[in-house]
Amino acid sequence: MTLALRRAFALALLAPAALAAQRPTTAADVRRILFPLAEDSMAGRMTGSPGEAMAARFIAAEMQRIGLTPLGDSGYFQKVPVAAVPLAQTRRGRTERVVLLKSFAERDTFPVERRRPSVNVLGVLEGSDPVLKDEIVLIDAHFDHVGVGQAVNGDSIYNGADDDASGVVAVLEIARQLATGPRPKRTVLFVTTTGEEVGMFGTRWFIDHPPIPLARFVANMEIEMIGRPDSLAGGPGKAWLTGFERSNMGEQLAAAGIPIVADQRPDQHFFERSDNIVFARRGIVAHTLSTYNLHTDYHQPTDDVRGADFEHMAAVINAAARATRVLADGPKPEWKPGGQPAAPAPRP
Ligand SMILES: [Zn+2]
Repeated sequence: MTLALRRAFALALLAPAALAAQRPTTAADVRRILFPLAEDSMAGRMTGSPGEAMAARFIAAEMQRIGLTPLGDSGYFQKVPVAAVPLAQTRRGRTERVVLLKSFAERDTFPVERRRPSVNVLGVLEGSDPVLKDEIVLIDAHFDHVGVGQAVNGDSIYNGADDDASGVVAVLEIARQLATGPRPKRTVLFVTTTGEEVGMFGTRWFIDHPPIPLARFVANMEIEMIGRPDSLAGGPGKAWLTGFERSNMGEQLAAAGIPIVADQRPDQHFFERSDNIVFARRGIVAHTLSTYNLHTDYHQPTDDVRGADFEHMAAVINAAARATRVLADGPKPEWKPGGQPAAPAPRP
């Protein structure tokens, strides 16, 4: 061993964290995580299905590998009470629908064969600042999809590669980047939710059973459908933020040089169409980052990895990782006057 090598070795032993560099996400990273999530064996990750449970275990194993601290009620899993009820009439090849229950006690009133396993997957990276670490930045994506249904051209598995395995890849890769670079000042909570497609079950349960008080949440960036570039956002590597004009979050990110623009299709009401709306209605500045280009594979068996643009995804994920650092280290975003959506009506 040369002296220089020995010195480098000693330095590495002394300060491994200081030497670890934040490596950007590559197309190979994207493929490694996207392929298993969108694989036919996950059977379209329907809420409460064995395929979805398999996806949850895969995500938890990734969070463990990254070194996130588990924040569920069972390791990385936050259990969500779900049961299946038979449909009066078969619809699009389905004979039952899943429902979110008020409690696990209520789930126990269902016959065993109708109780469904369902979980959110949660991991946290504690902030480094003695004061700001009490504030939470939430980065999330839904990992459920619509499962197996009516066959189209001989394919009945709705893989959901774009919707929203692509967002899950982003959550895990942002977590990896932040965990291997300088510690963020605020605490960053990484969540993948269940049940978005069937009524935002996972987010609704999370809101009513938060592992950290919601009053400490200062920002939420959800990532939803970044698998393909959108020309209205500026093409490959560029993304848009839903409800951009409602708060100063998008402006803060754009000012930091991050390629994020306003949602160009306000008529689609994307701000209200995903998990972020549940947090926004509770007052948390919450938006969704996306590059969905209204492709016709949406909620079809053809939303599979063949449609994914890995280079584009890697670029958007790297932008999202930088955005997360801005949210974790910079001034906390605020709603603009009239920008915060109304609070939800109380549920019966
Ligand atoms: Zn989605």
